Amino acid sequence: MENKINLMDLSVDEIEKLLVESGVEKYRALQIFQWVSRGKKDFDEMTNLSKALREKLKERFYIGKLETQHRLVSKIDGTVKYIFRLEDGNIIESVLMHYKHGYTACISSQVGCRMGCKFCASTGLGCERNLTSGEMLDQIITIQNIENVRIGNIVIMGIGEPMDNYDNVIKFLKLVNSKEGLNIGYRHISVSTCGLVPQILKLADEGMPITLSISLHAPNDEIRNMIMPVNRRYSIDKLIEACKIYIMKTKRRITFEYAMISGINDSSENASELAHRIKGMLCHVNLIPVNDVEGVDYRQSDKKRIEKFQEILEQHGIETTVRRELGSDIKAACGQLRRSIM
Ligand code: SAH
Repeated sequence: MENKINLMDLSVDEIEKLLVESGVEKYRALQIFQWVSRGKKDFDEMTNLSKALREKLKERFYIGKLETQHRLVSKIDGTVKYIFRLEDGNIIESVLMHYKHGYTACISSQVGCRMGCKFCASTGLGCERNLTSGEMLDQIITIQNIENVRIGNIVIMGIGEPMDNYDNVIKFLKLVNSKEGLNIGYRHISVSTCGLVPQILKLADEGMPITLSISLHAPNDEIRNMIMPVNRRYSIDKLIEACKIYIMKTKRRITFEYAMISGINDSSENASELAHRIKGMLCHVNLIPVNDVEGVDYRQSDKKRIEKFQEILEQHGIETTVRRELGSDIKAACGQLRRSIM
């Protein structure tokens, strides 16, 4: 496969260009793209192409494929967790969640992560490599095919830091949004970042009305430096400033994710400090009782503390939700399963 081109990574226009170079009619590109979007992995299944054309395509192209190594279904809420094996043998995780308004897929953007957040299960083993846009797209396509459902929403909150794989993530967003393909609207896609400021500013200029989630997790530099090394590069002030620019340019509401860790970031003072920092912004806060991670001794804040925290933020007019835990029996939270397998 080495010098063949993976069709999963290509837009209709790109396929068109390559076909024309090989003397194939332009209009074939759309047909091929549609087969690929529907999850066909074998050229011989592309029944509207002649045998001769299929053979010709096989010489130049291949269709990347994820192998489903594990599929776990939560008995509590039906959440499904997948371990997919990539062509080079690396493994990643994806999750399918079912809400009232439809299916949401949570996908990975890298094999591992190099951000080093102390409470996160994905980061321990470092980052092996970036995922290609096709590998991100294929998580959606493969899940749809396995379950025979249509995924309406995507969150890039699985393993990896999407803003550390910027170009491939942007390309993925364009592919998945493509009218001829899966046609998932930008407004139905969230990208979560630990706060890579230059990339947030760049994203603000892409003209993609996606939802940006910021993994904030702390009200000040002292706490954030301790639990998220990225903060030593981009301080909270710089991050919040970038968020304000993002909001100004995109008019989109930002979500601040805040993992509640007992005794670390969950006091009333922490809540007030956070409120003062983000007051007046077009944003909302999502409190997440931190998930246990093997080898990390952070514990979940108790329910009372979380409620108090929420109450303080709301007193300052900041809309605040507490995340419902899904799939806790199948290690559905990011990186947990891959970590336990490795
Ligand atoms: N790298 C990106 C996206 C992946 S993590 C980011 O940092 O946003 C997805 C979300 O899960 C982030 O908000 C992350 O901080 C959070 N998270 C990681 N480990 C967690 C844990 N043990 N408990 C709760 N949330 C966690």
